[in-house]
Amino acid sequence: MRKIALEEHFMAPGFDEYEGDVKNMMNPEAYREFALRLPEFAELRLETMDQAGIDVCVLSQTSPGLQIETDAPKAIRKAQEVNDFLALEIQKHPGRFAGFAHLAMQDPKEAVKELERCVKQLAFRGALINGHTNGVYLDDQSYIPFWETLNELDVPLYLHPASSFDVPHMFAGHPELMGPTWGWTVETATHALRLIVSGLFDRLPGLKVILGHMGEALPFMLWRFDSRWEISKHSKKLDKSLSQYVRDNFFITTSGACDNAPLICSIEAIGADNVLFSTDYPFESAQIAADFIEKASISEDVRKKICYQNA
Ligand code: MN
Repeated sequence: MRKIALEEHFMAPGFDEYEGDVKNMMNPEAYREFALRLPEFAELRLETMDQAGIDVCVLSQTSPGLQIETDAPKAIRKAQEVNDFLALEIQKHPGRFAGFAHLAMQDPKEAVKELERCVKQLAFRGALINGHTNGVYLDDQSYIPFWETLNELDVPLYLHPASSFDVPHMFAGHPELMGPTWGWTVETATHALRLIVSGLFDRLPGLKVILGHMGEALPFMLWRFDSRWEISKHSKKLDKSLSQYVRDNFFITTSGACDNAPLICSIEAIGADNVLFSTDYPFESAQIAADFIEKASISEDVRKKICYQNA
C-alpha cells in the first residue's frame, strides 16, 4: 500500500552543534548509524523508502535543532539557511520529499515571517518544532500571532519531542529514564496539554497539531482526563472537555511505536481519521514501521486512511 510518512529527519550542514544531549543518550554504535543517515538525502534514504514502500517523506531538521540556540539573531539566520537547504533537496527528488519548516521561536515575529515564506514560497507543508525553545513553551502569549498564522495558512504544527529544560527531581539517580525511553513522552504530552488548558483551541478551533509516537500516550488517558478535569477547580476556563480537544485538534502518527495495542487504542480513542503513518527515520527502522502497518489488525479502509489518505 502506498505510504506518506511525516516524522522523518535530517541533519542540515552546520547543524551538528545543535544535537544537544541526543548523542550522549545513545550507544556509540547506534549513533554512528544515525550520523551516517541523517545528512544523506539520496541512495540510503531513497532505497530505504523504496524497500518500505514509502512514496513521500515530509522531512524535518532533527531534534533539538535551533530550539536550543540562545543567540536569537543567529537562530533566525540559521532557520532561513536550513529551510533553503531543505527546499533544494526536495527539488532534487521531485515527488519523493516534502518539508516542514524549522523555525527560530526565539523571536515570534520572525517565526511568523519565516513560516509564511516556507509555506507560500517553498511549498512546505507546515512546521515541526522540537518542544520548548530554551524553556519557553508554545502556549506562551507571545506565540498567539504564530498560531493565528498557522490557522490562516491552514497548515499543521508537528510538535516533536526534546529533553525538558531542566532535570525534574523525579529522574534523580536514573538518567536512563530521560530521553526517548520515557522523559520525552512526559515532556511532549505535557506540552500538548499546556496548549489545551491555555485555551488556545477555544480561541482558534481550527488549529491542527500533530504528535508522534502514537500520540505520546495521550489517547490512553482520555477518560481519566475528563473525569478529573470535571472536578478540577480550573475546569470552567475551557469550553469543552479535555478529551474533545485531543479529538478535535490533534493528529497522531505511528512514528516509533510499532505495536498493535496502542494503535487500536488510538483509533478507538481519537478516530481513524486522526491517525497517520510515520517512521521516525533514521532513529527507527522504516521497514519495521512499514511491515507493522501493513500487517496491523485493522480494516483495509482504515489502513488506507493511516497510510496515506489522512496525510
Ligand atoms: Mn523523531
